[in-house]
Amino acid sequence: SNGLSVRDIVVRYPAEGRSGRAAPPAVDGASFAVGRGEVLALLGPSGCGKSTLLRAVAGLEPLERGTVEWDGEDLAAVPTHRRGFGLMFQDGQLFAHRSVAENVAYGLRVQRLPRDRREARVADLLALVGLPGMGSRAVTSLSGGERQRVALARSLAPEPRMLLLDEPLSALDRELRVRLADELAALLRETGTTAILVTHDEEEAATIADRTIRMREGRLVA
Ligand code: ADP
Ligand code: ADP
Repeated sequence: SNGLSVRDIVVRYPAEGRSGRAAPPAVDGASFAVGRGEVLALLGPSGCGKSTLLRAVAGLEPLERGTVEWDGEDLAAVPTHRRGFGLMFQDGQLFAHRSVAENVAYGLRVQRLPRDRREARVADLLALVGLPGMGSRAVTSLSGGERQRVALARSLAPEPRMLLLDEPLSALDRELRVRLADELAALLRETGTTAILVTHDEEEAATIADRTIRMREGRLVA
């Protein structure tokens, strides 16, 4: 089948302390699919397992059970950096001592794209996220919203087959969050990007996603 298919996955963190008792699974048998070009929101309260589920799709958490497939290929043996997914987190996680352009170019360097094509692509991406001409700025001089725009440009740079967005707007104030949600929705549609958006914000899910699934205590409920 086309796109992402997650079947019956279970993720459990190691038990803490000496009780030796296994912790309950953080993700307890989740199954869902995301078609190519579709934007899916994963909505639920803090601590219900959304980040863990997204990290498992990215290959950042081992599966106790179940499968993650792309176009029918089992990704169990494919490490995170070879899955072709773009990751973006709440705090952006930019390289603080590098310029905006160097941050956006990171994935393109890894791909060994020649310098002239890299610079052209960085310029295009910065225009796409509403920061035209800001490549030489220091990351430390940017506002929170600008940083998240840079993080988005960086995650889009290598042309990922799917974006995994973990609360990308949650650290921003409400006004900015609403505006960036509209922009992100438009950008994802225009570029036909496949994405999973993890959020606890109903309104953000409704604005950005084509479809929403809800999670509670490690399980998908609707
Ligand atoms: P959400 O993203 O919905 O806020 P998380 O996936 O972060 O939820 O967390 C789900 C559950 O797993 C929570 O009980 C959380 O405390 C626990 N958890 C998350 N990360 C770890 C970890 N690295 N080690 C142990 N437990 C964790
Ligand atoms: P977020 O919801 O943005 O992931 P958290 O504060 O829940 O922020 O988690 C911050 C970090 O701590 C994450 O790497 C997460 O995996 C880890 N973490 C969360 N809960 C636990 C836990 N109960 N035990 C150990 N690590 C945890």
